Amino acid sequence: MDKLKLCHLYPDLLNLYGDRGNIISMQKRLEWRGISLELTEISVGNDFIADSYDIVFIGGGQDFEQEILLTDLSEEKKKNIRYAVKSGVVFLAICGGYQLLGTHYKNWNDIQYDFTGAIDIHTIGHKKRMIGDFTFKCSDSALAGLTVAGFENHSGKTYLGGAVKPLGEIIKGSGNNGEDQTAGARYKNVFCSYSHGPLLPKNPVLCDYILKTALIRKYGDYNLSVLNDSAEIAAGNYIIKKLK
Ligand code: GLN
Repeated sequence: MDKLKLCHLYPDLLNLYGDRGNIISMQKRLEWRGISLELTEISVGNDFIADSYDIVFIGGGQDFEQEILLTDLSEEKKKNIRYAVKSGVVFLAICGGYQLLGTHYKNWNDIQYDFTGAIDIHTIGHKKRMIGDFTFKCSDSALAGLTVAGFENHSGKTYLGGAVKPLGEIIKGSGNNGEDQTAGARYKNVFCSYSHGPLLPKNPVLCDYILKTALIRKYGDYNLSVLNDSAEIAAGNYIIKKLK
């Protein structure tokens, strides 16, 4: 039986708004196709060995939790996370977890968190939070303009640098910063979004695209059987219609 190995990074600190639901969605959509998912939780005090995993998931968290995990982000751990990104490990990073992949996050109290620098983004916190349902159109050609429904709650405004492309273009809501109409980030096999919710259950096409990226990297070309996604798509469409 084919298997994917998933690392859930800081599950006890970064798990706002049920972001763990993204792992459940990936697990079920693999199981329904006869593919297993081996889940490993890595948090404070645990080593992160990049070559052990096919997918890394990092959820969202409040400034307070992001500050706590700073003490654990040793140069070694940061180096291994950067290596994992460079070597093509698939990442799904949500909100605070998204910010953690960047160079730094300066919160609205002007406290700067130096993060991993795994992708060229940075975040600046503001007093006014960006909260609510939001929608964006995916930029990856393989997703052919897929509209994604999500829920955001962040004070951080994230700005993309250099080779980092947006995951999508905002239709309704704030997205990365409420200024440049970008939503999330894409770099190599990294997928980042401000969408809690969780993101994947109501966006099955995006979930399968992320899974397929990991399966192709591990096994070469790979086809996923078609599932009945009527309930999942109805859930996503409810938000999309609500925001029209
Ligand atoms: N604390 C960060 C911010 O407010 C991330 C929030 C989150 O993960 N929901 O921007």
